[in-house]
Amino acid sequence: MFARLAEASTTLDIGTLFVIATCVAALLGLFLLFAWLQDRVAALAWWGAAYLIGGFSGLLWRLDGVVPLPLSDDLADILLFIALGMIWTAARVFHGRKVRFGAMCYGAVVWSAANLSPELAQWPAGRTVLSSLIVANYTFWIAAELWRERRKTVIRQRWPALLVPMLHGAIFLFPVALANLGVHSLARGWIAVFAIEVVLYMVGAAFIVLLLAKDRTVNRYKAAAQTDPLTGLFNRRGLFEVAGALMARNLKTLEPVCVLAFDLDRFKSINDRFGHKMGDAVLDMFAKTVKKTMRGEDVVGRLGGEEFIAVISGGLADACIAAERVRVAFEAAALAPDSPGVPVTVSIGVACGRPNVALDRLIERADAALYRAKENGRNQVAAAEDMIVAGAAGVLGAKAAAPAPRAASQAPIPLR
Ligand code: GH3
Ligand code: MG
Ligand code: MG
Repeated sequence: MFARLAEASTTLDIGTLFVIATCVAALLGLFLLFAWLQDRVAALAWWGAAYLIGGFSGLLWRLDGVVPLPLSDDLADILLFIALGMIWTAARVFHGRKVRFGAMCYGAVVWSAANLSPELAQWPAGRTVLSSLIVANYTFWIAAELWRERRKTVIRQRWPALLVPMLHGAIFLFPVALANLGVHSLARGWIAVFAIEVVLYMVGAAFIVLLLAKDRTVNRYKAAAQTDPLTGLFNRRGLFEVAGALMARNLKTLEPVCVLAFDLDRFKSINDRFGHKMGDAVLDMFAKTVKKTMRGEDVVGRLGGEEFIAVISGGLADACIAAERVRVAFEAAALAPDSPGVPVTVSIGVACGRPNVALDRLIERADAALYRAKENGRNQVAAAEDMIVAGAAGVLGAKAAAPAPRAASQAPIPLR
């Protein structure tokens, strides 16, 4: 099949293919730079500039011999390898890694140095093998950058992002294999096939990088829409979305779900005594304490003001232990030397239910328990009375709020 492809490609004019490849590279470069201006994803600028430089190098090749330019052939090669290094740099920058100028230019440096050596000139396939190796090397590096990121959401479903450079790199190893078999220069048809492959790779890679960048931008906006800017925790929207997913997962295993409702004690007086800025610092300290104290899979959000909610998997006893841990940690954090230096505590209400109950309903019950914790003197954990199971009250220790009589719990109790 490949032989037929090569045979069919002999009728294609290499010069025309070069012009097409150059125009495509330049157009894609401009397109990527335009996308960068819109989305400000730095990798798009690197990738776009690399395509423009690659296109320019193609132009120099084409002009070589047509217009007498000094060193145009060597310059074209060097620019092409720099462009390749820039594409690899774009893949690194996209994933938040540092620009490595040395590695970025290594292809151009190795190429220039090798061209000065008489051994390369004597080896018939030397230039083809060396250039193919450099191209394949950069392409595998690009694939490696993407591979390192495979666990992160942005490319979890994006296997083409990995496959396309891998394939391109593998294709560029063909000339190396052929040279080993004693074939020192590629037939005309094969050069045409390579030129077509390069154009397809350029288009495919640009399409993929644009997709990844768009994905990243959408994720960033989505995260911003779900995040409370002061504490970095989920806001109400984020909390309901992520907790909904947790409850759906628990529905499969029938594991219960608990809600912890937190409310900082006498927070208004902290604002009044120490100022609003100090109040904000205390809210931030609480968020940090919760993040440090609770498990990674627990969903924690700020509903507003000094009221926070956590949605966690497990039974009431475990939830009460988690709540008590947060209470103690926050009380200690407030007195720690690096804290804002304000004595502050938190009251916590806990409610537990099956994973198919409405989250609103669970929050309502946790709020009712929280109200009791406040009534009983604050700085304590209270469990929703109708959910208390044997052993749950025990883990609350001396600070545990005694459950109100069951009859009193039936009527909804307003939090404030
Ligand atoms: P309790 O122990 O009964 O919960 O008393 P409290 O003073 O904490 O309760 P209250 O609900 O009366 O006060 C909440 C205060 O939280 C009122 C408001 O000024 C303050 N607050 C709400 N949002 C913010 C915020 O983003 N930053 C700061 N610094 N204060 C806030
Ligand atoms: Mg409140
Ligand atoms: Mg409060």
